[in-house]
Amino acid sequence: MALGRDWAESWLRATAATVAEHRSELVRLDREIGDGDHGENLDRGFTAVIAKLDSVAADATPADLLKLAATTLISTVGGAAGPLYGTAYLRGSTAIAGESTLDGAAVVAFLTAARDGIVARGKAEPGDKTMIDAWTPAVDAAVAANGEGRSEVEILAAAADAAEAGALATEPLVAHKGRASYLGERAIGHRDPGAESSALILRAAAETAAE
Ligand code: ADP
Ligand code: MG
Ligand code: MG
Repeated sequence: MALGRDWAESWLRATAATVAEHRSELVRLDREIGDGDHGENLDRGFTAVIAKLDSVAADATPADLLKLAATTLISTVGGAAGPLYGTAYLRGSTAIAGESTLDGAAVVAFLTAARDGIVARGKAEPGDKTMIDAWTPAVDAAVAANGEGRSEVEILAAAADAAEAGALATEPLVAHKGRASYLGERAIGHRDPGAESSALILRAAAETAAE
């Protein structure tokens, strides 16, 4: 579908569905190298986002919906991920403010601003075993796909593929940010939960765009 208001709504609904579906997996990952609440935190947050979608105006822009997601996630998710994802959606929505339909450049602008927001907030670098290890390869893949003149659907699919690979690639890493950083070498062999949830979010974006 064209990446307009309806897509933004579908993306948020699909995100809530995939987070609910993978809730116990995210809890398990966070139990291994954190405090075990990541799946619950995100499930609560996206459930709250969905509850607000029915009251959104028909002429809302994608940015309006994604900003609503940002403020809702900030007030309901808590922990490290709430402010980080909230900032991602907030900065991302600002980058596409006023646009009724997103083209490839707008998709890249959204993803880049979202990633930059997470970095501004959490100061993580690539390789620190955080959600940035999903977002940065996703942004790089989106930039490359857009540069090759690919469609919005292909750009989002490339971003999702790269995010999944990035999440997988956190397994051998030692963490340098967040709770997992307290574990030192004991974090090795475990996938970062925030990188995994980021990959789920970006896969939902790609799948809804392809519908
Ligand atoms: P908490 O650790 O407070 O319980 P969550 O479990 O909801 O919060 O989220 C943990 C995830 O947050 C980690 O898996 C990691 O991806 C991400 N994270 C933590 N700190 C940072 C940071 N400084 N920068 C980027 N991501 C971070
Ligand atoms: Mg946690
Ligand atoms: Mg916690």
